[in-house]
Amino acid sequence: MKIIDVKATPVYVEMEAPLLWSMGVEHGTTRTIIQLFTDEGIVGLGETYGGAEMVRRIEEARPLFIGLDPFELQSMVQHFEVFKVTSEQMARAAEMKFVSAGIEMAIWDILGNALNKPLYKLLGGANSTFVPFVAYVFYRYEKNGIGGETTPDDIVRRYGELVERCGFEGVKLKGGVFPPEEEWRAVRGLRETFGDDLKYLRFDPNQAWSTETSIRYINRMEQFDLEYVEDPTWDLHGLSLVREDVRIPIATNQAVISLPQIAPAVRLRAIDVLLLDMYFWGGISQAKKVAAICETFNLGVAIHSDRDLGIGTAAALHFWASTPTMSHSYDTHYHDQVGDVITEPFVFKNGGLCVPEGPGLGVTLDEDRLAYHAKQYLEHGDDVEFFDPKQRPGWVPHLPLF
Ligand SMILES: [Mg+2]
Repeated sequence: MKIIDVKATPVYVEMEAPLLWSMGVEHGTTRTIIQLFTDEGIVGLGETYGGAEMVRRIEEARPLFIGLDPFELQSMVQHFEVFKVTSEQMARAAEMKFVSAGIEMAIWDILGNALNKPLYKLLGGANSTFVPFVAYVFYRYEKNGIGGETTPDDIVRRYGELVERCGFEGVKLKGGVFPPEEEWRAVRGLRETFGDDLKYLRFDPNQAWSTETSIRYINRMEQFDLEYVEDPTWDLHGLSLVREDVRIPIATNQAVISLPQIAPAVRLRAIDVLLLDMYFWGGISQAKKVAAICETFNLGVAIHSDRDLGIGTAAALHFWASTPTMSHSYDTHYHDQVGDVITEPFVFKNGGLCVPEGPGLGVTLDEDRLAYHAKQYLEHGDDVEFFDPKQRPGWVPHLPLF
């Protein structure tokens, strides 16, 4: 079998209401949907970050995967490994990771379809095909009567709604937006309101805090029994200074995004939990490798999500189910997104999702939905998550914010 062609379609899916974070606002998600064609008629589905720019990169990368036998997936992964953060390749390094992740995902889908097995079985099988999630709660702008959460009470109410709708037993609160005292009150509100029913409470201010603010407020949060605080401040040295003086575990998806950063992270004792983003790391094979390294160094490991649609979510579910060392549940924007490109969008039940049992990723592209969200992309362009030109023109983020 040979890979003979690729089609990449940028799509835009809006959020129910705009989500605030330390660097700006997320109004929607821009993704590129990949269809990978083989000479045997099997079409693999993939998904990755980005829009028109990503489509250009996929075209540029054609020589790295066109003509390959999908069963020789490893050689495709190696081809993409030449892109590292060096002086010459800096501009390409990140984007080629995203391309690699999306193409590899589609190849895995081809393999599963060729063998008529769900992907998780190709990856070694699963102890459980139920993947637990926590709610992902943001401060939001109001849109069409939805959202508008700005106070601790609003945050508590929002989590309550998601528990009702999806059965979650935990929450990640996105912080770094309001002053730390205000967000500390929101964390307190969640613990005081939901008590022991709230099994997992995590907080992520996306590097907005100085080391001093981090140490002070993380220590003040200790009484609320947090699972972890994610990226309170930036870079490995900053995280290691914070971690030295707090007892709540520290997680990151921002400070460790490439293999060369793992050794210093371990040496500096900067983190407790590594949140793998399959796209940052270049795909499922690379993420498996990183999970094994985390196991070696006794680091917790879980998946980072950033506005995946159904194809990427399916890939993450297969990865999760087949990686027994996953130590923390998944959090996702999926419940905030209005629309998807697959025929049967995921619906949360009992606080999680079941891994699809069909061959490959186990999801089917809905051509009408793809066309609709491709049209949305043409109208909206890329979602720019940085700054806030609509509501706060002239506002620019800086570090530390607090
Ligand atoms: Mg994060």
